Amino acid sequence: MKNKPVNEIKITLSALPENEAVARGCISHFASRADPTVTELADIRCAVSEAVTNCVVHAYRGGSGDIYINARLYGDGRLTIRIADKGCGIPDVALAMTPLYTTDRDGERSGMGFAIMQSFCDKLKVSSRVGRGTVVFMEKYLRR
Ligand code: ATP
Ligand code: MG
Repeated sequence: MKNKPVNEIKITLSALPENEAVARGCISHFASRADPTVTELADIRCAVSEAVTNCVVHAYRGGSGDIYINARLYGDGRLTIRIADKGCGIPDVALAMTPLYTTDRDGERSGMGFAIMQSFCDKLKVSSRVGRGTVVFMEKYLRR
């Protein structure tokens, strides 16, 4: 069946800074089974890293919570990655996705996370509800 993944991984992680590397490692290891190029793998690692960092830094604002990751590989080389949180949500998703837009007041963030995810994936979809959480859906074709 065309829409059935050939492989799938589901992970729930505590929203801790150290789990950014864990998520990046797990998803790139999972994706490597599909024999991606070094560049494709680097893109995936960067995109996952940005999405997970956002969950840690923004969604739970340094407090506790979980990050729900689901990645799927399809027979045609399509990789989908869904990264969700149950944090504070984003009031205006289009605004949040504008390059250089950040709500960070400490000057530590550059507001480029979504722009990076966008450029490293073939498709990026963000849906969010204030007080309920955020879902980031990314799709990338591994051109083998
Ligand atoms: P950078 O990623 O460059 O360090 P940033 O995180 O502020 O900076 P983006 O990743 O593009 O930039 O995110 C833009 C804004 O969207 C954030 O400043 C934050 O307000 C909001 N945001 C992003 N992800 C989430 C999330 N999971 N939950 C709540 N708010 C989010
Ligand atoms: Mg960010």
